[in-house]
Formats: sequence, structure tokens, C-alpha cells
Amino acid sequence: MSSNNPPPIPDVTHWARSLTDRYTECINNKRAEGLAARTRNLSLESPEPSISERSSSADLKGSSKGSSSSRSPARGHPPPSSSQTLRKSKPKYALSSSSRTPEIGPDGLPGYSASSSAKIPTPPSDPASIKFHSVLRHLAMVPQKYENPGLLDEALTMIPLARIYAEAEEESQIMQVEAESLGKEKAKWGHQDCIIMALLKWFKRDFFTFVSNPPCQVCYAARRPYDTKMVESVSPTPEEKARGASRVELYQCLNPQCRNYERFPRYSDVWTLMQERRGRCGEWANVFSMLCRAVGSRVRWVWNSEDHVFTEVFSEHANRWVHVDACEEAFDKPRLYTEGWGKKLGYCIAFSHDGVADVTRRYVRNPRTHGGPRTKCPEDVLLYILNDIRAKKRENLSPAELKRLEKADREEEKEFRNIELKAMIADGLIEPRSRDGEKRPRQSGTTDWKRRRGEDGQRQEQQASPLEHPDHRMEQHGR
Ligand SMILES: [Zn+2]
Repeated sequence: MSSNNPPPIPDVTHWARSLTDRYTECINNKRAEGLAARTRNLSLESPEPSISERSSSADLKGSSKGSSSSRSPARGHPPPSSSQTLRKSKPKYALSSSSRTPEIGPDGLPGYSASSSAKIPTPPSDPASIKFHSVLRHLAMVPQKYENPGLLDEALTMIPLARIYAEAEEESQIMQVEAESLGKEKAKWGHQDCIIMALLKWFKRDFFTFVSNPPCQVCYAARRPYDTKMVESVSPTPEEKARGASRVELYQCLNPQCRNYERFPRYSDVWTLMQERRGRCGEWANVFSMLCRAVGSRVRWVWNSEDHVFTEVFSEHANRWVHVDACEEAFDKPRLYTEGWGKKLGYCIAFSHDGVADVTRRYVRNPRTHGGPRTKCPEDVLLYILNDIRAKKRENLSPAELKRLEKADREEEKEFRNIELKAMIADGLIEPRSRDGEKRPRQSGTTDWKRRRGEDGQRQEQQASPLEHPDHRMEQHGR
């Protein structure tokens, strides 16, 4: 009898964890609201902001629709345009017009071998695949560290927010006016995108320093040449270790009279890096991704197998993930590495706190010309690994939130398919639908009738290579 069983023991661990998650979510929402309010206030301070742009930026922050209604429009300013209404009524997850390919028919096209739709998730079983699974699981932790409201608030105090918001406001207004003058429905980028652009500029030009070899401090102070060269990799001191250094590179001054040693600890702790303000692409991407999160954007930290890391920020305005490389001060230049630097890329894996995606196709527009080796595990296994990491990141989400993320994943997959298809059409691997069926023999009528009329496609073949078909030629002459 089931009624004799004791009542089920509540899962305390799960309960405690969900409570913690709810608390974190609550704090994060509070932060987002605070940021939105701060942006609104700063916007109001700047002279003559564009009404339509300002209200749309408020929408991005999830604040109420009427937030800008308290301020009457400037004299002579046109009333909110119908384009604004259109923008609002647009479904949130529709693909942006820039990523749509109208020349491709709605009936689908032959599959590309690397498309995820053709793969079956397969658990890793060989040592190389198991190792890759573990590496990716480890990398997946990086953006998790940004989900710390205390850290993000502290980080915000180190950013010249007023300057960045003012610059973003001006830039976004220019883009809006530019779009209107060109008769376009909406500007290329929204207000939040302009905040990221301004942050990027400040970060590269005024905040962080790129270090190839650390300068010799002694010679630098004495205003002498201060070049150093790497001697070896050494263990971190207890103090360096406490600040999050995983390893230390040791350099020696090239000046024979000096020969001073310089230590270059490689920190992964993002807060330590905020104080150090120097490093290579790893340090740059780590800190910059965190700062994008701090100003309220959804962010991804992207790992590339050819020794590079960078950032992706979700543009609510363009409704897609946008490539951002802090080292290169590059915004939305995904072809930079292949077509600019001339690299071949194997894997680009994007990690966020609530997801993971193989975004290689955004950076390798044509795998036949710019694809690097993808040999760390079979593609079916990679699919399993990413599904596994994603599921763990999402295990505590509400069904509604889960549904929203999965829909966004599908939209991104569609974006990648479009990229693939464009490259295949460009390479002549598939015929564009608009020309499909153009070079085929007549379909209607009996075979004999079509042949007599010379509409069965044979004549074309005959004209192309008459000597190879002497019998056809004779038949033609005999008629
Ligand atoms: Zn020196």
C-alpha cells in the first residue's frame, strides 16, 4: 500500500540552490533597473536627444513605454514616426533584415555536411574526445564569474560612465538621423550598441595596455630603452597566487648594464585584472566581456582554437549576436581573422552564463577557403558536449526562460545556415533557386512530339559538341 510509505523527504540541496538562484536573479534585476534609470537620467541631461531613439533605448532596458513622455518633443521635431510603431510591432525574435537571404526559396535546400541538423549527439568515448569535453567544460566557467552583482557594481565605478553614455547618445542620434535621411526604417545600431562601441573605444585607448614583453621598470624610470626578453616560465609567488595568477612569465632586461628581471604574472581573476590593466588578448577579452555585462548587455566570451579569445554582445536592436574584439577595437567585424589576418580557424566556441554555441560559421564564412582543422573530436561528439554544457547551465531556469533561449538558439542556427548557403552559392556548389529549372528540357508533351519540335534539350547538347553525336547530326539532316 502506497499510503504506508513515509512522506517524501524534501530535497534540501535543490531547495537551497533554487533559493540562491532566485536571490541572484532578484539582485540582477535590481541592477538592470538601476542601470536603466541611470541611462535615462544621463540621457535627459544631454541636450536635444532624439525622442524616438531615446524611447527605443528605454525599451531595450525593459522599462515602461511611457518613460520619455514627461518631456515634450523639441519644437519642429517630427512626431514619433510610424517606423517606430513598426519597430515595436516586429516580433522580438525575427531575423534582422541584414541576415535574411531573399534569393533563397522558402522550400529549403540540400543540407551542408557540417550542419548540426544532420548530426546525432554522441557521447565522447575516445581519450581525445574526453579530454576536449573536459577542456570545454573548464572554459565554460569563465563567463560564470561575471554573474556577480558586487563585482559588476565595483567595475562600474572604474568606468567613466557619464562620458561613455554621452558619446553613445550622440552617436546613436547621428545614426538615427542618417537612417531617416536615407529613408530607412531603422538605424543600423541602437543605443545599447552605441554604449558598447563607446566602451570599446575608451577601453582600448585609455584603459587597458597590450603587453608583448613587459618593460624593464628600472630602465623605464631612468628613461633608457626598456626592452626585455622572455627567459622562462616560473611558479607564482604566494602573493601572486592569492591574486589569481596561474603562471608567471619571467623576462630579463636587454640592457647589459641592467639585466633586471621582470615578472609578468598571467592573471585570470577579472578583478585583479581591473587593477593590473594590462595583458594580452586573454586578459583583454576577460575584462572587456565583464564590463559589457556590467553595462547591462548579454555577453559571450568566445574561445578560438587558434589561440585567440574575444567577445560577443547581443544587440537587441539588430536582434543578433555581434562580434566585438577589444584588442583590435573591432565591432561587428567577424571576417577580421580570416579575411583580414589571413588565419584559418578550426573552432570558435561562445560561452555565456546561460548557454554555449559553436559560432565558427560566423567567423569562417567559407570553410573551404578559411576552415582550420576540426580534429579534436568527431562533430557528433562535439554536438553532445555542447548540449551537455548547455543543459547544465540551464538546469535551474524557468520553462518560459528556457523556451525563450531555445527559440533564440534556433534563430541563430538559421542565421548560420544562411551564411553557409551564401558561401555555397558563391562557390557554385548549389544553384540559386531563382535560376533552378531554367536549363531543363520541355516538360509538357510526349517525348516524340518534343523531339520533333527540337525542345527535348537534345539540340543544345548537339550544338555544344556536335562531333560527339554523329548519329544525332545525321538524323537532323535526314529530316
Ligand atoms: Zn633595465
